[in-house]
Order: sequence, then C-alpha cells, then structure tokens
Amino acid sequence: MAVRMTEAEARLIEEAGRKLGPKVVVTDPKEIEPWVSDWRGRVHGASPALLSPSSTEEVVEIVRLACEHHVPLVPQGGNTGMAAGATPPADGSAILLSMRRMNRIRSISAENRLAVAEAGIVLATLHEATHDVGLRFPLTLGARGSCTIGGLTSTNAGGTQVLKFGTMRALVAGVEAVLPDGSVHTGLSGLKKDNRGYSLDQLLIGAEGTLGVITAVALRLVPAIAGRAVAWTGLDSPNKALELLRFLEARTSSIEGFELVPQDSLDLVLKHIPGTRSPLSGKHLWHALIEATTADPAATIAAELQGLLAAALQQGIIGDAALASNEAQAEAFWKLRDTISEAERAEGQTLAHDISVPVADMPAFITDAAAKVEAAFPGVVASGFGHLGDGNIHFHVRAGSHASPDWYEAEGERIMHMVDDLVTAAGGSISAEHGIGQLKRAEFARLAPPGRIHALRAIKQALDPLGIMNPGKLVP
Ligand SMILES: Cc1cc2nc3c(=O)[nH]c(=O)nc-3n(C[C@H](O)[C@H](O)[C@H](O)COP(=O)(O)OP(=O)(O)OC[C@H]3O[C@@H](n4cnc5c(N)ncnc54)[C@H](O)[C@@H]3O)c2cc1C
Repeated sequence: MAVRMTEAEARLIEEAGRKLGPKVVVTDPKEIEPWVSDWRGRVHGASPALLSPSSTEEVVEIVRLACEHHVPLVPQGGNTGMAAGATPPADGSAILLSMRRMNRIRSISAENRLAVAEAGIVLATLHEATHDVGLRFPLTLGARGSCTIGGLTSTNAGGTQVLKFGTMRALVAGVEAVLPDGSVHTGLSGLKKDNRGYSLDQLLIGAEGTLGVITAVALRLVPAIAGRAVAWTGLDSPNKALELLRFLEARTSSIEGFELVPQDSLDLVLKHIPGTRSPLSGKHLWHALIEATTADPAATIAAELQGLLAAALQQGIIGDAALASNEAQAEAFWKLRDTISEAERAEGQTLAHDISVPVADMPAFITDAAAKVEAAFPGVVASGFGHLGDGNIHFHVRAGSHASPDWYEAEGERIMHMVDDLVTAAGGSISAEHGIGQLKRAEFARLAPPGRIHALRAIKQALDPLGIMNPGKLVP
C-alpha cells in the first residue's frame, strides 16, 4: 500500500532521485514493505521511500537533504534488532535509510589486527573474510546471517562470546559516521591510544542511529581458532550453572562461551526447529552449553574440557554431559541455543526482557522472578536463558494458557512493569544488550535516574538539533 507523503518528503525523494539515481531511491511499496516491521513482527511502520546508498558520499548527500527539508531518517541494517529501533513511525513521517548496499570490507590488516568493514557488511560475511586470512572477529550471535556491522555497533550488541571478548564497545577500534549536520566523523585509524577528550566513537556505539549514520567501522581481530571443544551439560539449577562456570574458570582460561538453557526452552526448540535433537538422554531442569577455544594448534582442548567436566560430574555440580565429537555436532549443540527465539516465535506470544543483574545475583533472580510472575499471572510461563556469565539473561514470559489475540494489550504492560521493577530493585538494567529502541523507551523514562535522562537529551539536542536522526527511539 502506498504511504501518503508530506510535501517535504516528496521534495527530498525527488531531489535524491535526481542526484543519486533509482538504485538509491526506491519508492515501490512492494520493495519497501518487508522492511517496515520489526523482527518479532510486533511493531509496524511505514515509509514513503527506501533510500539505499552505496557510499559515504551518498549518505552525506542524503543527510544534507534531510537537514534541508527537515525530514527524519531511520537508519536500518539487517532489521534483526529486538527493540524495534529500525522500524519507522507508522504515520510515514520518516524515511528508511537502508545501509545494506554499503557492504565492502575496505581492509584487513594482520599487522594491526584490524578490519575496516562498511556498515552493511553482514556479520557472517566478516567472519568468513577474517577466517580466510587466519584471523577472527570473535563476536557472534544467532542473527549472524543477517545482522550488519552498523546495526551491531549501533546497538552495542553482545552475543555469546562476551565472557572473553566483551561487547561491541570493546571490539570497535573506531567509527566513520555521517553526523546529523552532514559532516563526516572519521575515526578509522584504530589508534590504541587517543586522549583527545570525549570519544565520539564510543558515543556512536549504542546510539541506535540517534546521533548519526555509521558508514564504516574499524574492528579488532584476534587469532583464528586452532581448536574448539563444545559441550552440553545437564544441571539442577542456575546456581549449579554458575558454580560450574566458576569451577571451569578457576582451572582453564579457554572458556569463551557459557550459555544457560532451561528445559522448557530446549523442549520448544525440539518441537519447532527441524532436525534438532537433545544431546543428553535424560531430562534435566537446566542445561549449560559450554565452548572452550584455543589459538594454539598444539593444545588438546577437547581432552582438557572432558577432564574438567568429569571432575564436575564427580563433585555433583552437573548431572550429565556430552562433548561434541566433531564440528557438525558442535554446530548442532549451538543451534539448540541459537534458535530459542525462533522456536518461541513459532510457539506463540512471548514477552521478551533482555535484562542484567550482578552475576552472583542472577541465579536467585531467575528463579525468584519467574516464581513471582507466574504467581501473579497464573497460566503464563516465565523463564530465563542466555549469557549467565555476563549476568545477562533473556527473561521471557510466554502467554501459555493466557494466549489470545489481545494478550499483549491486556497484560503485556503489567508483566513488563513487574519484571522491570524486579530488575531495578536488584540494581540491574532493563536492557542488557538489545538497546532501548521504541519498545523500551517508556520503561527507560519511568525507571532511569533523572540525571541519566537529562544527559541523554542534552547530547541528542547538541548533536541533532533538528531531530532528523531516528526520532522516537532511545531518548525519552
Ligand atoms: C535470532 C536473533 C538472535 C540475537 N541474539 C543477540 C544476542 O545474543 N546478543 C545481542 O546483543 N543481540 C542479539 N540480537 C539482536 C541484535 O541486536 C541484532 O541482531 C543486531 O545488533 C542488529 O543488527 P542489524 O543490522 O539487524 O540492525 P537493525 O535491526 O537494522 O538496527 C538496529 C538499530 O541500529 C540502528 N542502525 C542500524 N544500522 C545503523 C547504521 N549504519 N548507523 C546508525 N544506526 C544504525 C537502527 O536504527 C536501530 O536503532 C539477536 C537478534 C536475533 C534476530
């Protein structure tokens, strides 16, 4: 369906078409349609055009036109974000700026251990390119086949290897971005030391497109993996899972992934994702997926992990364990973890909370919060999965017996308030790695300390006084 456009939008689209050509300016509603709803399909927007630049110069041109005509832009990468940050407003009052055609790797330097990738490079493509030269970009997550470097940087994404390598904030060495006035910030030299005051790069990381359009990113690389061992363990409780993590970390420095999975999530994956099977024969209330890696070809990583898990079994920390015997099995174990969100989506309605609390408090938080939510809303199913070692869990509440077309409207807000209040009381964050976007903005405003909100607003106003960068997102 064609979207009604304002006069200003029509002028921008006409001028952009004239200057940049039809490859950059798409107005066919059929081509725009797949990109105006969020990944979970919960928020629906509209845009009169999809602008797809293929160079920084074209982005500059578009931002200048947006300034001149006072038309807001919504930057978008792979549209896999979990907070509807890349979804335009429903009234068509902003224009989608797709960065997917900016998809070149500008350089990979083994000497500097740096890659410079344009914003639209898909994460899996970067993984392949760095692997080909014996290096590795260590951040990875379930959406790696479609999420982009620009989106990952803009949401300060985390993923499954944060335990060892940190989030995008730790892995980005510099950013190139077109700022809201059309000027270009160039921070791609990847300097290890640079103390010239405020870091614009760090400000743009996690800014969710509200302070500028990221066009390229310098990324830190590490040596390629020479060997990895992946294991699936069955345990009694999140407490035991944390005990296992600390047990392993005390004996080896090779652990880089440690993911908590409740039996309930595993059941959903086995039900909805074709070709999956449980690694263990018996049922366990909880599971931990462990990945150990080494860059040393001489290391015997599988034997080391096997020995440690045997000791953990003997000490009663775990109930059972399976070590992947080859790469295909290792991938199959990871698939069980990576497809939890997809399986939940297939099952029905889910309220997702991406939360963090101090690591040591997380096991108690998961069980207490799930019990409280299920007691307050009998029939819903609450549980947490994910990055236990980072103190970050995806605390999800499924509709269960409450499933109905208006469940989100009827109970969504009350459940979200309850979870977010529990998180805040525990000294945690209502967004650990997914950002604020539009879905968490009201909660952020309700719960963040006034000083934090004031600083955010002041920065936004200083850098984007016309409000053309992703309005209605992040900043309350
Ligand atoms: C199956 C699945 C698993 C996931 N697992 C994890 C996980 O483990 N950890 C985690 O942290 N996240 C996870 N995510 C969400 C994650 O945030 C996104 O996958 C990724 O960071 C977003 O990249 P994208 O290119 O899709 O960005 P989009 O969704 O397109 O955009 C996200 C935000 O960034 C902005 N943006 C995008 N590109 C630019 C740019 N070039 N310049 C300025 N702003 C821009 C958008 O405006 C929006 O605000 C998962 C998502 C899925 C679907």
